[in-house]
Amino acid sequence: MKEADKNNKELNGATEASTPSNFIHNIIEEYLEAHPNNKIHTRFPPEPNGYLHIGHAKAICIDFGTAQKYNGLCNLRFDDTNPTKEEVEYVESIKKDVKWLGFDWEDRLYYASDYFDKFYEYAVKLIKKGKAYVDDLTPEQMREYRGTLTEPGKNSPYRERSIEENLDLFEKMKNGEFEDGAHILRAKIDMASPNLNMRDPAIYRIYHAVHHNTGDKWCIYPMYDFAHPLEDAIEKVTHSLCTLEFADHRPLYDWVLRECEIENPPKQTEFARLNVTNMITSKRKLKAFVDEEVVDGWDDPRMPTISGLRRRGYTPEALRDFCDRVGVAKADSLVDIALLEYCLRDDLKLKAPRVMGVIDPLKVVITNYPEGEVEYLDVDNNQENPEMGSRKVPFSRVIYVEKEDFMENPPKKYFRLFPENEVRLKNAYFVKCNEVIKDENGEVVELHCTYDPETKSGSGFTGRKVKGTIHWVSAEHAVDAEVRLYDYLIVEDEENKGEMKQNPESLKVLQNAKLEPVLAEAKPGDKFQFLRNGYFAVDTKDTTENKLVFNRTVSLKSSWKKKKK
Ligand code: ATP
Ligand code: MG
Repeated sequence: MKEADKNNKELNGATEASTPSNFIHNIIEEYLEAHPNNKIHTRFPPEPNGYLHIGHAKAICIDFGTAQKYNGLCNLRFDDTNPTKEEVEYVESIKKDVKWLGFDWEDRLYYASDYFDKFYEYAVKLIKKGKAYVDDLTPEQMREYRGTLTEPGKNSPYRERSIEENLDLFEKMKNGEFEDGAHILRAKIDMASPNLNMRDPAIYRIYHAVHHNTGDKWCIYPMYDFAHPLEDAIEKVTHSLCTLEFADHRPLYDWVLRECEIENPPKQTEFARLNVTNMITSKRKLKAFVDEEVVDGWDDPRMPTISGLRRRGYTPEALRDFCDRVGVAKADSLVDIALLEYCLRDDLKLKAPRVMGVIDPLKVVITNYPEGEVEYLDVDNNQENPEMGSRKVPFSRVIYVEKEDFMENPPKKYFRLFPENEVRLKNAYFVKCNEVIKDENGEVVELHCTYDPETKSGSGFTGRKVKGTIHWVSAEHAVDAEVRLYDYLIVEDEENKGEMKQNPESLKVLQNAKLEPVLAEAKPGDKFQFLRNGYFAVDTKDTTENKLVFNRTVSLKSSWKKKKK
């Protein structure tokens, strides 16, 4: 919680990036001091069993970012030792996401499954040293013999098998002579160790399954805790950076490297997982959302996956900035999603052209404006970034304004359109509402207004002031679009404080948005600020030649009015 508080403070006060602490940098600097001729070498080791999420973005920034900072190397390695859950689709998506985030593994793309022969040789080596044995206990018996946190385990009756017998059984396991689960290869460490991971952990199991890379060559597969240190060693990794849940596995990591007699063994260092409010950071849970069709695939713009954030309109710069600001800590924490959104706005602020888009339109006829006349108003593309130039925005007799910007019976302090009130049309003129047209159900369908030609924007008019300024789009010139507004996929459960629940209202679709004509040229992935409505990105999946779809990337933090004060 502390971390989140800190972030909030950062949001409320100065947005100056303080340098967050990074204990990994200290470790690396010490290492480089002791080994001035060595290069540091890290790896990012995803299991290809789902798409990457925001938590992985942090791991990528740490693994690749640390190597970059210290002029070292970072590998991309697919940890594909489990044959059942892994798919080529995931491999491709992971490669795309890492590249998009701005990192490069150059020629160092590896698959753990490429090392299956080597793992097998190391397992044989352990058996020959009397450090591994084939066990015949059933999974239930194994659990029973394992002991508990407070009680030591018991040695398996098969623990003292001869080396010859073990070698023979292990080879038969490899040759497919046994059913799944009939035998297992275990490291011979210490059944009384206070660390359960050290109580003769399984290192190879029988699994008659086809692997996406090795096909049916193998029917035994190494366990993660055995394979991972060896993968690191084979690739000459110096620093194996991983999340805190592996801290208890570190003694086993070191044991494997020692007993396999690895020279210059890699060192494992753990950092805290990234958790973000209103975001799920578990591939398993995200996969359930996809499988249950709660969302439209892994790249649904509501998903906290890298592909979802990309489709939503997030930039790699914003994600990297976010990971930097969160820092690298040794204790788990929950980061406020507001920090992520802040980083995005901060990045888009000077990059995204600012345009007018009416997402929920109401027709307005300016009755004293000549029919057929069109004026092209000169408008800056981004008032905060003059380098972005300007464009022409057409103004004519019929325009659209936001439905929300009109109220027939407004409350106090409503400064937008209402009968007899005058407002400024952004970049254009003052208009006054004279008449409200309703349909047979009493719903407002059109307004009749008059404009004052004296009040043209930029003319220096000082005759009188109006309190409200609203955006608009010329009807004749408008580009049609569909706009999708999002809320978080999970929100706090009102009835169950502290618990999160699925948000039933995470998507709102507006089919009749009317946008400025420049947006006719918008390409999938392009990002804009729609004045007062937020940042929007052209959807990369559902936009076609005949249909323009915009995702709201993030709302503006404060309304335009507040900002102007
Ligand atoms: P999940 O629990 O979502 O399935 P995982 O840890 O099983 O994630 P891996 O593919 O094994 O996913 O992860 C690759 C790397 O990313 C690992 O080094 C892991 O520690 C790291 N990682 C995963 N989730 C996070 C997170 N939330 N924050 C930081 N690093 C993470
Ligand atoms: Mg994992």
